[in-house]
Amino acid sequence: MVLEGLGENLRHTLKKIANASNIDEKLVKEVIRDIQRALLQADVNVKLAIQLTREIEKRALTEKPPAGTSSREHVVKIVYEELVKILGKPKEMKLRGQTIMMVGLYGQGKTTTCGKLAKYYQKKGLKVGLIAADVHRPAAYEQLKTLAGQTHALFYGEPTAWKGQEADEANSQIAGRVAAKIVERGIKELKPKVDVIIVDTAGRDKLEEGLIDEMKHVFEIAKPDEKFLVMDAQVGQQAGPQAQAFHDAVQVTGVIITKLDGTAKGGGALSAVSVTKAPVVFIGVGEKVDDLEKFEPARFISRLLGMGDIQTLLEKAQELVEDEDEAEETAKKIMSGRFSLVEMRQQMDMLNNMGPLSKVLDMIPGMGSVRSRMQDKEMEATQLRLKKFRVIMDSMTQYEMENPENIKSSRIKRISRGAGVDPKEVKELLKYYETSKKTMKGLTANKKAQRALMKRLKMDGASLPPGMGGDGA
Ligand code: GDP
Ligand code: MG
Repeated sequence: MVLEGLGENLRHTLKKIANASNIDEKLVKEVIRDIQRALLQADVNVKLAIQLTREIEKRALTEKPPAGTSSREHVVKIVYEELVKILGKPKEMKLRGQTIMMVGLYGQGKTTTCGKLAKYYQKKGLKVGLIAADVHRPAAYEQLKTLAGQTHALFYGEPTAWKGQEADEANSQIAGRVAAKIVERGIKELKPKVDVIIVDTAGRDKLEEGLIDEMKHVFEIAKPDEKFLVMDAQVGQQAGPQAQAFHDAVQVTGVIITKLDGTAKGGGALSAVSVTKAPVVFIGVGEKVDDLEKFEPARFISRLLGMGDIQTLLEKAQELVEDEDEAEETAKKIMSGRFSLVEMRQQMDMLNNMGPLSKVLDMIPGMGSVRSRMQDKEMEATQLRLKKFRVIMDSMTQYEMENPENIKSSRIKRISRGAGVDPKEVKELLKYYETSKKTMKGLTANKKAQRALMKRLKMDGASLPPGMGGDGA
């Protein structure tokens, strides 16, 4: 996965949002700080990172979620949308016959990417031809020829043309003309046989007059539909000015950022290029011919953020809210002391769903002391007892669950047989029920305690955002 570090940090932040009980200013500010830090670590420009997070903050605090969307979902969506925005708009790539010319500095991955593109278009059903027009490096000819073999693309090159062509200013004119001649002959030979022609060219250590001259010579002959600038992600934020300079010199139609697999700082290159007039069209994510991905900001960010997982998380949070609505009803009944086994069972199930009893007690304020007083053995015994109670209740009819006071000896016998327990244990359950009821009644007879409990219940209920659901981001 490309930009794994950034993805991990952002996913962590989104989970914070998805799990939050309440979206308030404090949480938004915390989220903003997290995102800013994550972006800066990925080498995204400071100004851009601040601008982006400011926008997220503004929207998160002022926008009302559309009907059917929870505030959690809405904030996640805002973060996603704003991140997509900084990567710019996707460029539409037509799948049809065309000529593509590669440009870029030395060692950026031009030749490798020619092979990757050949594979890409061949897979889409277009026949591809590769032309070797790097007249400075003899190795480039062999390299491209090998790649053509690997990808079943046709190949045109002239190995004899390389002799002594140093890439200096003086012979750039000559080199340009030699390269242009090769391209001319290559196109003549390949054009009738293929749909897509990809021209590999020479680079320089930096963007200089000689390189521009050479490229211009080749352009005039190749008349490429696309001019792809190939850049190593390692250049970071410098990718921006570089892409702009190349664009100004030779009207680049698309940028390919390579070696994104090898750097945590790829965020710098990607975001910097997006503000230039040359859009990122592909990314290179490895040395093999398959390691090329069409660059689509929305998909890229969605994958980076693990939106599928986040969506699941949001849905889980939704279920929790629904459960809590039901739980509130149950809790009210139980507190009033007017409950049957139905409510008691619900309460037990809920407790059970929350995990081991010891963990649950840790989560409840004030229960820590109970937890410390209870030995692990006792805890286990309690857990077992509750489990047995559930088994017993499973053997009861709805009528019995709703009217436990009417469970007399013949029913007790039947239930115990069904549950595979001793009748004593059924009685024990009924006793437990009676005791709980009395305890609750005693507690609620104390009006002050009751009010305090109700208040606590309301507070918990009110902190949950209403109306989760909808399709989200
Ligand atoms: P050129 O001088 O621009 O033609 O660059 P090359 O295509 O010869 O590539 C230079 C080096 O970068 C080679 O060792 C490639 O294997 C490597 N390379 C190119 N693209 C990628 C990429 O996306 N990921 C990784 N890890 N290496 C790459
Ligand atoms: Mg090369």
